[in-house]
This record gives sequence, C-alpha cells and structure tokens, in this order.
Amino acid sequence: MPVNYPSIDVDDPFGYAADTLGMDPEEMRRLGHKIVDMVVDRQLRKASEHAILTGDPADLMARLGGALPEDPMDPDASLELMAAVALSHQQHGDHPRYFARVPGPCSFAAILGEWMGTGFNTISSSWGGGSGPATVEIVVIEWMRQMLGLPEGTEGVLVSGGSIGNLTGFAAARSELGHGVAYCCDQTHSSLPRDLREMGCPEGHVRILESDDTYRMSMSRLKAAIAEDKAAGRRPLLVVATAGSTNTGACDPLNEIADVCDAENMWLHVDGAYGGPAAITEEGRKTLAGLHRADSLTLDPHKWFFQPYDVGACFVTRPGALERCYAMSPEYLKDVQATTGAVNFGNRSLELTRRSRALKIWMSIRTYGARKFREAVQQGIDNAKIAEAHLRERPDMWEIVTPAQIGVVCFSLRDCELGEHAARSKLVSDSGFACVSSTSLKGRSVLRLCTINPLTTRDDIIQTIDMLARPQ
Ligand SMILES: *Cc1c(COP(=O)(O)O)cnc(C)c1O
Repeated sequence: MPVNYPSIDVDDPFGYAADTLGMDPEEMRRLGHKIVDMVVDRQLRKASEHAILTGDPADLMARLGGALPEDPMDPDASLELMAAVALSHQQHGDHPRYFARVPGPCSFAAILGEWMGTGFNTISSSWGGGSGPATVEIVVIEWMRQMLGLPEGTEGVLVSGGSIGNLTGFAAARSELGHGVAYCCDQTHSSLPRDLREMGCPEGHVRILESDDTYRMSMSRLKAAIAEDKAAGRRPLLVVATAGSTNTGACDPLNEIADVCDAENMWLHVDGAYGGPAAITEEGRKTLAGLHRADSLTLDPHKWFFQPYDVGACFVTRPGALERCYAMSPEYLKDVQATTGAVNFGNRSLELTRRSRALKIWMSIRTYGARKFREAVQQGIDNAKIAEAHLRERPDMWEIVTPAQIGVVCFSLRDCELGEHAARSKLVSDSGFACVSSTSLKGRSVLRLCTINPLTTRDDIIQTIDMLARPQ
C-alpha cells in the first residue's frame, strides 16, 4: 500500500537500485515476510520452549563463527541459523515462566513500531534532522508522564536502559546543584554506584547505607549520614531512592526522603527502572506515593512497559535541566538547532546519533490504549500475590522472606542447606521449564520470583513453585 510520503518532482525516481548493497527489492519483501512469520510462530509456541538456554562457548562459536565470508551466503540459511542457534541461546524474558531477575514481556505492537523505525533508518538527534521522530518522543514522554502522575512540565529523554537513565539523572543533578555526596542504600541496584564512580565521584562521596528490616532506605541512617557529612564540611547533593528494588520490589519512603531533600536543598533521584510502571495502577500509585516529588526518575520501558530491548527513560521535573546539562552547539550542528517548541534530543543525554526508541512506545500505547497497560501491570502485581498465597499453603516447607510487593516475592526453604536455593533454581532453569533466580538479602540466600508477565497463569506459578519444592 503506497503511503503519501512527501515527494519531489524528479525524472525516473526508481532508476537506481533500492538497496545500497544490491539486494533485490522482491528478495527483501520475501525475507521480510519470512521474518514476520518466524517471529509470530515463535511467540505462539514460546511456552513450550526453554525459558532460558545457555550454550557452550566452543560449540556456539563453531556454529555461528567460521572464516570471514568473502562471498555471498544464502540469507535463508543465515536466518534459520540465527533463529535456531543464536536466538535460542538466551534468556527469554517474554516467556510466561521466566521469573528470574526482571522479565521483558514485550508486546506485538511495540515490536512493529521498532521494526518501522529500523526500516526507515530513523534518527532522533536534532529537530532539524528529525522533527517527526522528535515529536513522537515528546509525545510519549508526555503520555508516560501523565500515566505515572508526574508534574506538568516534566521533561525527559529515552536512552538505552536503566543504567544510562540513572547516569543521565545524576549528571543533571550535578549540573544543577554542583558536586557533593550521594546517598544510596544496600538495596540500590549495583549499576548506580558504578554510574556515580563513572561520573568521577570520589569513593567517599558515594555513601551506601544499610537498609532497614524491610530492605528500604532507613530514614534515621540517612539523616545521620547527612548530618555527619555536613559536620565534616562535605556538601550532601543527592539521595538515590529506589521505587521497586530489583531484589524485593520494596519501595523506599519517597515522601519522607523528599522532605529531607527539600529541607537540605538536595536532589531526589528515584530509580524506578523496574518498579516505576507500577505507578500507572491505582494500587501501585499508593505503594509508590511521593514518586511525583522526584527531581529525576528513571524507568525501563523494556522491563514493565511491554517494549522490546532496549529502551530506558529519564524524566526530570525541573524544566530545562537536561539541556543545561547536555546541550552543546558545535559549528557543524548550527543548521539543525532548535526553533521554539522543538526539542533537540541530542542535547538531553550523552547520545547524539540515536535511533527513535519512541516509535515503539507510541505505537503500543496507541494500539492497545493506556487502560490495557494498567490492566497488564496490575496482572503482574496480582501474580506475585498468587505466588505468595501458594507458598503460604506449605508453611512446613516455605518461609516468606519478603511478601509480594509490586510483582516480586522472596522466599526460603525451611532448614535450607548452604547453596540449596541456587542448586534448586539452577535445576529448574536447566530443565527449561521455567527460569528462577536466587538472590541474597543481607547475607541470607533466598529464592525470588518476579511475576510481571501478564501472560503468566496461576498454573505457571504453581507448577514452578512445586518444581522448586522437589529436591531433584
Ligand atoms: C534493571 C535495573 C537497573 C539497570 O537497568 P538496565 O536497563 O539493565 O541498564 C537499574 N535499577 C533497577 C532498579 C533495575 O531493576
């Protein structure tokens, strides 16, 4: 179907080959349709395939490597090899029994948006060079802002994921308020201290405070650390709160932390990479109360917003802060500078040449509607409660270590031997039936389920837990 793409008047516009390197356009159509079929077929049968499969380095290299191909090879054979070997050996975060770390239950419409962006070789760096994609990005940031309940005027930028999203927020904090001490807790995702180190924060300026008994930031320890630093002549700059910790799903007391930040003129950064999307539901909005008071917030739409990898988001509630931090205007970009109402996304993070990660979000929100997103996120929250209830039916066997909290539950075998949790989760994962991970909470080993895939059924959850209950 031809699209009304603005055209210019030239003779024989199709006299040249369509493909830069010479593939026949009909061949491109045939292979493209084949890929659509391969992808949809895999989505249809994914529950009967491995939730995770890890290969042997030498074996994978032997099948995927080989001598540099000097001459053309058959693309059908390459696609089939890619699917059978490369793409089968990974964690399938969209598998309904993938419960490890954080799943990635992506949606069809988002995949389509991503494909369109790639096919049109979309760029979203400057207004002049990408005003269409830039507008889509402005729109999805605004739609997500509304869904999350963030203040009007909040700005944002899409990046590769949580790690870079958090780095982007930290850099904005420093550019607005100057250098100083950052406060994390022992449940802060390990990529955040790495971000702070990478920004050149001296070790002594990254305080990792012991969390309280519920694995949340301890307000008394935070206040004591700030007082101690002030007494020693250091400037408290930034509190790094977590809205949904990867380990337990716990959310730090955001309102109390925001009060401290207000009183001390500090920046509140909230890492909602995993849990942030819970705030689009009524229940999650209560759990994440105070989220709207963040100066910066990170979200990972490739986790709980049904997008394929990769896409992270950094929201900043102080207008202009991202540009004040990141804008540059070298000579060769002069002709693509923004006019009023336009955004140069290359001036909002470290990425200049960047594809449009907004298209997939735009396509999926339009296709399904925001209500569907709310229902799907709520389903993930409810799934963890189903898991907790099933575990509680066997108090002789299981102990709940942290209750179901926005899609995560942590539990332990009673009378557990050292290494037992890791061994049982490995057994389940090796079987391919499900993928489960263990983690460590203040030195204690626990099993953990992250249940955010709305395709996951009660049976998936019960069968996985029952498999973990059997020693072999
Ligand atoms: C996943 C995660 C990160 C890191 O995000 P990436 O997308 O993997 O870079 C940071 N914080 C939290 C809470 C996470 O769950």
